[in-house]
Amino acid sequence: MDYDTVVVGAGPGGSTTARFAARNGARTLLLEKREEIGVPVRCGEGIAPRWLEMIDVPLEGDWIANRVRGAKIYSPNGNSLTIEDDNLGTEVGMVIHRDKLDQFLAKLAEDDGAEVRTGVTVTDLLWNGEDVCGVKIRDSNGKESEITCGVVVGADGFESQVGRWANLPTHRKPADMCGALQYTLIDLDIDPEYCEFYLAKGSKGAYIWSFPKSSDESNVGIGCMVSRVKNPGEIKVLLDQFIENHEHFSKGKCVDIQGGGVSLSEPLEKTAGAGVILVGDAARQIDSITGGGVANACLSGEVAGRIIGKATETRDYSKEAMQEYDMEWRKVMEDRLYHSYLAKTKLTEVEPESIDTVVKTMADVGVEEPTVAGILAVLEKHHPEILAEIGDLI
Ligand SMILES: Cc1cc2nc3c(=O)[nH]c(=O)nc-3n(C[C@H](O)[C@H](O)[C@H](O)COP(=O)(O)OP(=O)(O)OC[C@H]3O[C@@H](n4cnc5c(N)ncnc54)[C@H](O)[C@@H]3O)c2cc1C
Repeated sequence: MDYDTVVVGAGPGGSTTARFAARNGARTLLLEKREEIGVPVRCGEGIAPRWLEMIDVPLEGDWIANRVRGAKIYSPNGNSLTIEDDNLGTEVGMVIHRDKLDQFLAKLAEDDGAEVRTGVTVTDLLWNGEDVCGVKIRDSNGKESEITCGVVVGADGFESQVGRWANLPTHRKPADMCGALQYTLIDLDIDPEYCEFYLAKGSKGAYIWSFPKSSDESNVGIGCMVSRVKNPGEIKVLLDQFIENHEHFSKGKCVDIQGGGVSLSEPLEKTAGAGVILVGDAARQIDSITGGGVANACLSGEVAGRIIGKATETRDYSKEAMQEYDMEWRKVMEDRLYHSYLAKTKLTEVEPESIDTVVKTMADVGVEEPTVAGILAVLEKHHPEILAEIGDLI
């Protein structure tokens, strides 16, 4: 074998897998098709740093743009709820420069002994009978070659091909697709201490975020269930209307536009096979409520790297050995992901008036735990009729 593991894709999931695989003794090659890691950026750039801390990522460096104090959530009629970062159990606590974070994570992988190559596209898998045993690649000069290894890691993101090539069940329901559009606005005059979430008027299941990098710059974007819009242009109309109606954003100048699909589905039923595992968006480890996936990709990458290290010691990359990864990452986040998935499915059906009431109630009684379970507990006490509307599925 040329390497113990080849990791496909140097996003947060791939770099973290490579880092921990190398740290645990595996000869690791990390391949990225883009010439420059992390460029161009396609991300709202909001993350919760506590997840990164858990996997030993030092919280320092030029990838940190702004530490926020918390989040403000606005219901369709403008009721607002402020959640301080101390008990913000979900996704936002820091706004980052995503390109620099991806480069930083790749550098950490390199420091731990992984070999990193950019401008290399993986074009297919190599097979030894039923087992995956390497990859076919094409470099930036068009030269094709093959690399053999014990386990291939598909960390190739939302449009992952590794899972499909490996015959893992990667189908996704159209109803779980979210369309996202984001503007980077500058020349603003905003409070940089809070990220903001607006549950959009007039379209169930759409929400708008503002992740401020400073008092004059913010990523303002919209996520909208594709099944809820008649044509893709509608998403832009909703975002433009929102900005027009909010003076502190309408004064801004747009310097970047990003769009993309986010899969808000439940995680894949099977994320490992003989000689192959899937990490991050490729395994659909994305939070269906927030659309956040950077931290989850890192968390599952740590698990993957650990299991690959163990498999390398015993030279066992069989289906059974790789299955341990499938079991271990689920212990870390599967419950959380399923709760969010069920909540998202139900929330797209809830009337805006009920959301107004939920947000007002949470603001009135205070939020001890801003998780799906915490919200349900408040509703059970104060609005059992709304709980009956949304709670049964969750
Ligand atoms: C508009 C938008 C806003 C978002 N905002 C946020 C946010 O604010 N916070 C958050 O946490 N998440 C956010 N997300 C989600 C987040 O970007 C993903 O969950 C995260 O990037 C997943 O990391 P990953 O490592 O699994 O995949 P990716 O980051 O997608 O990395 C995959 C890598 O694989 C490479 N690759 C693909 N195919 C190949 C191949 N064949 N050969 C070699 N390399 C390959 C790609 O070039 C890429 O670098 C957002 C997504 C979108 C679309």
